[in-house]
Amino acid sequence: MEHEGFTVWFTGLSGAGKSTIANALAEELRRRRMKVEVLDGDVIRTNLSKGLGFSKEDRDTNVLRVGWVAEVLSRNGVAVICALISPYRDVRAQVRSRIKNFVEVFVDAPLEEVIRRDVKGLYKKALAGEIKNFTGISDPYEPPEAPEVVCNTAEETVEESVQKVLAYLEARGWLLPA
Ligand code: ADP
Repeated sequence: MEHEGFTVWFTGLSGAGKSTIANALAEELRRRRMKVEVLDGDVIRTNLSKGLGFSKEDRDTNVLRVGWVAEVLSRNGVAVICALISPYRDVRAQVRSRIKNFVEVFVDAPLEEVIRRDVKGLYKKALAGEIKNFTGISDPYEPPEAPEVVCNTAEETVEESVQKVLAYLEARGWLLPA
């Protein structure tokens, strides 16, 4: 049976848990024999968006490029999972408007929590002024106003967050049975 494609778009601060939840979700979808592609911001910046920086213009270009790839893949039946900070509301709305089955997931964690985690040691540097345009410290993050799913990663486990997304996809009838 051919299932409908869709795009699950994770947005949130660096270290909020986007990649972690995205990869766990991908694993579950593959277990259900779906075709899955993960488009992870860190990986994208080493190939598709190599050379782009962190100005609003470059961030927007990055998000629109990934949105275009997600659009063409998801219209061909692929389950596309994007994990990008994607801090600007207007550009996320543009991407949403182009993709038929679009699910915005706000990966929410308080700034204190992501600073405490400091997965890549970047917050320490940003707070010391060594990195400019760092989202949440010296660059804006505009939280979604009406995301389909919210994952509060300071309060729930990775499995609970994944389950929330799966429940949404199931309710829309987009999932193959386990
Ligand atoms: P991002 O992709 O948003 O930058 P990462 O997924 O790379 O974030 O890092 C998130 C970090 O937070 C990981 O080290 C992960 O193990 C940890 N973490 C702790 N609790 C959770 C949770 N409930 N959901 C997701 N990640 C969590």
